[in-house]
Formats: sequence, structure tokens, C-alpha cells
Amino acid sequence: MNAVWHPECFRCRACNQPISDYEFSTSGHYPYHKACYKESYHPKCDVCKHFIPTNPAGLIEYRAHPFWVQKYCPAHEIDNTPRCGSCERMEARDTRYVPLDDGRKLCLECLDSAVMDTSECQPLYLDIQEFYEGLNMKLEQQVPLLLVERQALNEARGGERNGHYHMPETRGLCLSEEQTISKISRRPRFGAGHQAAELITEPYKLTRRCEVTAILILYGLPRLLTGSILAHEMMHAWLRLKGYRPLSQDVEEGICQVLAHMWLEAELMSGSGGNAASTSSSSSSRASKKGSRSPFESKLGGFFLHQLETDMSPVYGDGFRAGQQAVQKYGLRSTLEHIRMTGLFPY
Ligand SMILES: [Zn+2]
Ligand SMILES: [Zn+2]
Ligand SMILES: [Zn+2]
Repeated sequence: MNAVWHPECFRCRACNQPISDYEFSTSGHYPYHKACYKESYHPKCDVCKHFIPTNPAGLIEYRAHPFWVQKYCPAHEIDNTPRCGSCERMEARDTRYVPLDDGRKLCLECLDSAVMDTSECQPLYLDIQEFYEGLNMKLEQQVPLLLVERQALNEARGGERNGHYHMPETRGLCLSEEQTISKISRRPRFGAGHQAAELITEPYKLTRRCEVTAILILYGLPRLLTGSILAHEMMHAWLRLKGYRPLSQDVEEGICQVLAHMWLEAELMSGSGGNAASTSSSSSSRASKKGSRSPFESKLGGFFLHQLETDMSPVYGDGFRAGQQAVQKYGLRSTLEHIRMTGLFPY
């Protein structure tokens, strides 16, 4: 540029104040104060709210969550910044996550719809039993459902002879051994400072009347996630009660994930709108939280679907995708029949 500017006319594109500094920045054909340019174009970290630093090569390098597009300094992955145990978002410096008794932390938005104790989970359990009945897959046996802490879940997992583990964390189990489980019988209350207090657990002795003794679910997860885990574990129970022989892990976990996905999708469909008037037509009039779903809860449901679909594990992820493909091609009934006969998904 060889033009001559009146100092008064040489103004920053961002703040519209004259630029008198010796150095300035340009973008397109417009001049900026250096600081204004940085403010407009240099990405800020959603966690610490500072400009994301440039790396040794002089490039701005940041990480981003693939679903929430939360972008942050790479440093936060190793500086103990907590993540929400449900939605995976990092705790921003200006927010407070709520610690649960077992070491997990939850963001307030996930906590909002969290299922905290065994009795609170019963309406959801009935909803999912109804969902199975609607598929003509009623479970003939009443299987006890218990909400438990992380430690209790991991101990119970150790007590099973052949369980499949979902990495990085097991969030549900379908048990077939006799064990004594510490169940959560009363929800923790969040007092001042958001510390979980008064979590009441009590021992619960499982007795075996059939192939399945109980379903355990991690407490404190949002209703939609709790429901999809429950739908998954109920499919394990269904396979055992129907006398399916032991299946390879990817087929068994895959078909269970298909049912989890199916329930979640149906649930998101039915409860969309979020307006109270639309719930009166719903066949289940139980005090479920249907219809009062917040925009965040709907988005969260989308995240759980995304997690099921993009799971990288060969057992849960590849198994799900193979199962989903089979069900879309042949329907659920024929797919299950094929699994019963051959132990494999139909191609
Ligand atoms: Zn940062
Ligand atoms: Zn969360
Ligand atoms: Zn499973």
C-alpha cells in the first residue's frame, strides 16, 4: 500500500479508533490495532478464557471436543482439569462441577436430570420394560434393578465369571452370580458448597432364581444415559432368559448397543417439543420427566447417540455398527433369529 492516510482516517476495523501505533495488523485490506486483531482472530480457550498459546513452531494449537466443539489449550488435558463424568465437557474456570461421593464430577446441566437413587429409577425401568414389550420382547422374569456407586459396580464386576467390560468405565452390569451388593437407597443431598452428603447405601443380597440375578447401573447419570444403559443391560438379561447360548463379545455387546440406541432414539423422538401440553396424550402417565425436557437435555441425548455411533472399540463400536446394519436390512426379529441359529449377525 502506497497510499497516504490522514491519521484521523486510519482507523482500526474492529474498534474504529485511529491507529497511531508504529506497528499494526491487517486482514483483508483493513488495518487493525495489534491488540484488536488478536481479540478478533486469536482463538480463546473455553476453559481458562485466555488466548490459546502458540506452540514452539509458532502455531496456535488447540484441542476441541468433537461433539460439543469446546476448544481448549492442550495443557488442560494434563493439568487435572476435571471433565464431567457424563457429557465429557471440561470444567471451565468460571463454573463449578459437583463432586459425587465416588470421585466422579458432574456439570450442573447433567446433574439437572441425573437419576440419583434406586427408587428414583423405577419409573424409568417401567418405561423401558414397556419399550421391550412394544418390541414383543417382554422379559418374563422380574429382574431387580439397583443403582450403585462406582466401587460397588467394579467389585460386582470382579465377582462375575464372564463379564464384558466397557472401557474406559463400566456403567452398567447384568449379573448372574449370587452376590451381596451395596445399593443406594437414598439420594445424596447437595448442601452448601455442593458436597454430596447423606448418601445412604444398604447391603442387598442377590439370590439366584434364574440365569439373571440383577441389573446394576451407576448412579448419578442423566436420565437419558441411565435409560440407554438400562436398555443395554436388559438386552443381556433378555438373551440369557431366552436361553441364547454364549455369544462372541462383539455380537452380544453389539446387539445390546443396538437396543440402547433404539430406545434413546425413540425417547428423543417422543419427548421432543418440551411442552407440557403434549405429554397428556402419552400412554404412560407416570411421573416421568418426559415433556419437560430442556434444550440441553435434548442436545445431551444427541451426544449419547453420537457416542454409541462413534465408539472406537472393536467390541462395542464395531459390534454396534454391524448389528445396526443387520437390523436395518433384515429387521430386529430376523436378526435375533439369525443370532440364535448361528451366533452371528446376518450379512
Ligand atoms: Zn486454556
Ligand atoms: Zn455434563
Ligand atoms: Zn454389555
